[in-house]
Amino acid sequence: MSLTEITARMDAALSAAGRSADSAALIAVSKVQPDSRVEAVLQEGHRIFGENRVQEAAGKWPAFREKYDGIELHLIGPLQTNKVRQAFELFQVIHSVDRPKLAKTIARIAEEEGHCPELFIQINTGEEDQKAGVSPKDADDFIAECRALDLPIKGLMCIPPAEEEPSLHFALLAKIAKRNDLAGLSMGMSGDFESAIAQGATHIRVGSAIFGERDYG
Ligand SMILES: *Cc1c(COP(=O)(O)O)cnc(C)c1O
Repeated sequence: MSLTEITARMDAALSAAGRSADSAALIAVSKVQPDSRVEAVLQEGHRIFGENRVQEAAGKWPAFREKYDGIELHLIGPLQTNKVRQAFELFQVIHSVDRPKLAKTIARIAEEEGHCPELFIQINTGEEDQKAGVSPKDADDFIAECRALDLPIKGLMCIPPAEEEPSLHFALLAKIAKRNDLAGLSMGMSGDFESAIAQGATHIRVGSAIFGERDYG
C-alpha cells in the first residue's frame, strides 16, 4: 500500500462518518522501518510520524529534522521516567501517559523546561497483563490526578487486544473520553483504522500499511 492510498481510505471513512476531512490526523508509524522508506514518505510531503522508542527516535529524527521542516513527532510507546527529559526534546505529543509516577515526573520536567508536549493517557481497555495503560475503572481518577498536576491532557489512547473485535474497545475509549470532556482519541492501526474513525478517532496510528511490513530480523 502507500501513503496516497491510506489517505484516500481515511478520507472516505471520515466522509462516511459525516466528519470533516481535517478532523483526524494520520500518524505514520515509522518504528523499525529503514530510513529510505521513511524519507520517501517525507518526500511525499507527510510530516506527522510516530515512534515507540525514545532511543530509536533519537537515532533517526534529528537528521531528518535538519533536512525537512515542520516534522511533528509522536511517542506512541512506553516511556521510562529517566527518559522524560529526552522525550521532551524529541516529541511534540506523548500518547503513553499511564501511571502516577510518570505523570508526576512529566509535571516536574514541564516546570523546569517551561514547556510540555501534548499528552494522551493510555487506557488498557482489554485489561491485559502484558499491556501498559490505566485500567478503565481507574481512568476517571487518573485523568483527574493528571489535571490536578496541570498536565496538558488532550485525550486518550488504546491498543485493543489482538484477538478481539476492536470496535468494542474504540467505543469504550470514546465513552471514557466523553464523560471526562476529552476531545482526543488516539486509536486505530493498519488493520482497523476505518472502524476507529467511525468511532470518533482523532489520531490514527498507521505503520505497516504505509511503509510495508517491519523487518525485526
Ligand atoms: C507499531 C504500532 C502501531 C502501528 O501498527 P501497524 O499495525 O503497523 O499499523 C500503532 N500503534 C502503536 C502503539 C504501535 O506500537
